[in-house]
Formats: sequence, structure tokens, C-alpha cells
Amino acid sequence: MRQSGETAGSAIQEDDQTADTGEQPVNTNKRNFQKELDALIQNIPEGTVPSLFLHSCCAPCSSYVLEYLSNYFRITDYYYNPNIQPQEEYRRRTQELSRLIRQQPHRYPVTFVEGPYEPEKFFEAVRGLEDIPEGGERCFACYELRMRESARLAGEGGFDYFTTTLSISPLKNAAKINEIGERLSEQYGVKHLPSDFKKKNGYKRSVELSAEYGLYRQDYCGCVFSRRERDERNKNT
Ligand code: SF4
Repeated sequence: MRQSGETAGSAIQEDDQTADTGEQPVNTNKRNFQKELDALIQNIPEGTVPSLFLHSCCAPCSSYVLEYLSNYFRITDYYYNPNIQPQEEYRRRTQELSRLIRQQPHRYPVTFVEGPYEPEKFFEAVRGLEDIPEGGERCFACYELRMRESARLAGEGGFDYFTTTLSISPLKNAAKINEIGERLSEQYGVKHLPSDFKKKNGYKRSVELSAEYGLYRQDYCGCVFSRRERDERNKNT
């Protein structure tokens, strides 16, 4: 799966979750998560700045989300991505995100926190799902692994909200991400911030910001399986 932080062949298409991968269109159950977020932000009492524990997948995806949400929230940006292989790639993505946060201006402070790199947890979470095509159950398990750890820490830390940058990608399933977020919200006692960050030109803005900050844009989603598919694509072009 090629996500918004990627270069080769990335589709700059708003709201097109099938892009050029042949994935099936996503059923969003008619909910407009961006509108829900707009309403939530509008209802923040004047003079208050809620705290947000934000799971970040990479610098390009986070660029727009941080620019946008730091106008309303005090953000702890949590980089927890045990799916990424190999370790050098993991390090490179971590460093890019950390650099972006240092260089980007924010209205309210953004604090970067790197979680542990524990690839064994990813392989455990997707066991038996390895051969499922990208965009399917393996990816849902991967979203959940990363979001669960974020929700757990947000709950323990007494944050007002938690969410993830993942929905900015035209290739990620926003309905599924929000469904998982709402389930974890109940489990860990922390409110989930609804999201579909690709809306309102969010994806387009992330591409602009990536160019502005010279961010590294990977050409595969992150795991060994997506890397293999990237290699196959390159062989056939
Ligand atoms: S890293 Fe792999 S399993 Fe996770 S969302 Fe990307 S393609 Fe799916």
C-alpha cells in the first residue's frame, strides 16, 4: 500500500481510496468524520486547549495533521510503528518526524515522544494474515496494534483525546480507523478524536509541506510485505 508519505506513483487524489492499487472502495457508512471533527473543535470552550495524544505514522503524513491540529490542541506526538522494516528505515522515518516537529511552527506546543521499536509485536499481530492483500485484514490489525498502544498511554496519561494520522492517506480505510478508535476509546477511557484528514485538501497540503520541508517520502507503506510488493511493482515497470 502506498501511503501519503510516499513518492513513486503516489496518487494525489482527494477522497479516492481506491487510487491506483485496485483496492475495493471503502464503505464509510455515510459518516463524515471531518465534519464530526469540525463540530468538536467548534465546541471547545473558549480559553481552553485540550491535550491530544497523537499517533504519528511518518513525517509527511504528520506535517498537515500537526499544522492543523496544533491550532486547537496541545499535542504529544507519539511515534510508535513496530510494523516498519528494516530498522534503518524505521530510524530514518523517526528522525524525519523529529526534525519536522523541531522546524515547523505550531500555535500550541507539540512534544515528540518515540515509543519502543518492537517488530516482534507486529509479526505476532499479523500472524496468519501475512498473505492477505494490502488494504485488508492485515492492515486493520496493524492499525489496531499502533492505535491500541497509543490509546493505552493516552488513558494512563489522562489526556483529553487520542487519535492517529493514518486517515490522511487516500489508501487507508478511514471508516475502519475510526471504528477501531471508538472501540479503544471505551476500553481505555480516553476520548477518540474522529478523523479523515485527507478531507479539506489535507492530503494535498501534506504533499506541499513535504516539499517545503524536504521530507523523505518513502515508496512503500512500511512492513516487509509492502516492501516486497514495492519490489514487485518496480520489477514490472
Ligand atoms: S505496514 Fe503493512 S500491514 Fe501495516 S498498514 Fe502498511 S501494508 Fe498494511
